[in-house]
Amino acid sequence: EQRLQAISQAIRVVPHFPKQGIMFQDITTLLLDHKAFKDAVDIFVDRYRDMDISVVAGVEARGFIFGSSIALGIGAKFVPLCKPGKLPGEVISEKYVLEYGSDCLEMHVGAVQASERVIIIDDLVATGGTLSAATRLLERAGAEVVECGCVIGVSDPKVGCNKVNGKPLYILLEPR
Ligand code: 5GP
Repeated sequence: EQRLQAISQAIRVVPHFPKQGIMFQDITTLLLDHKAFKDAVDIFVDRYRDMDISVVAGVEARGFIFGSSIALGIGAKFVPLCKPGKLPGEVISEKYVLEYGSDCLEMHVGAVQASERVIIIDDLVATGGTLSAATRLLERAGAEVVECGCVIGVSDPKVGCNKVNGKPLYILLEPR
């Protein structure tokens, strides 16, 4: 599709960031291209608008950008999933293991009601560890995770069959 090609071309690839050997997919250049950014959001909005989704959860920080835009487009609420210590209220936390060390996502207690239908949005999926933790967090709050959605999917053998933690995973683009 023509829109996908333009979206892909708007993403800048920065070699060796944040460390040697990594081809960093920089979505900030996509945000500078109003049409490509809007097209990317619209594709998600078209996909999710009739799926009875009441919550879009976004992963800090780049998942906030796409997630909140999608939430406005489908008429859902937006719930930020944050790195530790960023949310002022009572939180539930979910730790996850990274290549080196571990990290954690937090969500405000009461942000999501039991049995609400949720989609989780991030900019990029690689191992799926971040989205798995996000899925566990939402499920512990009693929500139904309908799908995880990402702008970019880096192929990783651990992200098998387009699923993350047993949930469907929708990927807009391959990395450039
Ligand atoms: P995973 O947990 O799937 O291995 O990694 C995904 C997380 O790492 C996402 O939250 C994503 O924002 C971040 N990430 C890793 N590599 C890149 C990259 O090249 N570009 C961007 N924009 N984010 C990345």
